Amino acid sequence: MRDENCIFCKIANGEIPAATVYEDDEFRVILDLGPASKGHALILPKNHFADLLALDEKTSSKVLGLAAKIGRAMKKSLGCAGFNLVQNNGEAAGQTVFHFHMHVIPRYEGGPKMVSWEPGKPSGEELAELSESIREALE
Ligand code: 5GP
Ligand code: ZN
Repeated sequence: MRDENCIFCKIANGEIPAATVYEDDEFRVILDLGPASKGHALILPKNHFADLLALDEKTSSKVLGLAAKIGRAMKKSLGCAGFNLVQNNGEAAGQTVFHFHMHVIPRYEGGPKMVSWEPGKPSGEELAELSESIREALE
């Protein structure tokens, strides 16, 4: 389950070197080359899945536990006060590498603002319409 043209397949499977913080049979966790903060890591499955919607159940069931393990180690080793999990799906969402990955971004006291947005002010009616629309589309 690899894609010959995928850079993260090559990195996850050790064909291209990367600063690795964790590896097992199914995952490699590497440091991001363009980090949002010191220690920014990427969780890569060794198999190729384009995004979350393509991910198989076996892999998805392990990702959050692994993210917690990495986040815990970051707090211990880097002294970060917290961390964000970011996982982009689709170009519109900012995905640039189409091999599923989860960002683990250490956050430091007094560090720059990131992973934030201006809260909207939807009406109760709008929220009701939206929730119904999504509920109806659930499979
Ligand atoms: P996305 O925008 O797809 O969620 O995130 C892709 C991330 O992969 C970016 O943060 C980018 O800096 C990182 N990245 C892209 N190419 C490489 C690479 O060859 N090696 C490493 N270590 N990170 C990469
Ligand atoms: Zn891939």
